[in-house]
Amino acid sequence: MPEASPTHSTRGLRVLLVEDQRDIAANIWDFLERRGYEVDHCGDGAAGLQRAMQGRFDAIVLDLGLPRLDGLDLCKRLREAGHGVPVLMLTARDTLEDKLRGFAEGADDYMVKPFAMRELEARIRALLRARHACTVLSFGPLSYDAEQLVAFRENRRIELTRLQGLLLAALLRDAPRVTSHERLMAAAWGLSGGESGALHTQMYEIRQLVDKPFAHPLIRTVRGLGYRLLAPP
Ligand code: CA
Repeated sequence: MPEASPTHSTRGLRVLLVEDQRDIAANIWDFLERRGYEVDHCGDGAAGLQRAMQGRFDAIVLDLGLPRLDGLDLCKRLREAGHGVPVLMLTARDTLEDKLRGFAEGADDYMVKPFAMRELEARIRALLRARHACTVLSFGPLSYDAEQLVAFRENRRIELTRLQGLLLAALLRDAPRVTSHERLMAAAWGLSGGESGALHTQMYEIRQLVDKPFAHPLIRTVRGLGYRLLAPP
């Protein structure tokens, strides 16, 4: 079989690998790097969660049994914080029950050890394809491309910062339901929190961009709770 070589389609794609078993981590890392991916590695769950919250990754390869915070909890917390990054879970357990729990906590795919590296990569590619199809969120006249950090409203292009993008994406995912202050702060700043003052500043700026130039505001304050998007009449 020929040596794996990088391709244009994988170059620069960022994968976070959270795996405590050094030999397995080294194998995956080597393989993916040779294929052109940028790989970041954490050896325990708590560090992995922190990295996943802070970094921009195209996919996470996540071991299930990890020190400090196991893979299921990591995945669950990531999803609770509004992160939609594709997660491929790795495990030595292969009962149906284990797999269903993995999916219930937000995993997108599941592989049982031992596995072939080529299959791992094929599954990562499949997740990336699926993700690409759903990076655009929309509600009423507003759409937002999370990949490009660009929103569109009535054909007007609106550039957002990464933080603004995370907040707007959280609102769009929940719309027309209310997104709580806590949920917004977790989406933007992760488990480390963030302050309500900083949230209000960001929301003010988002409104300047998304609502101010238009006749009808979409973003509504729900006093004491959070914010919601409401379609114009
Ligand atoms: Ca492990």
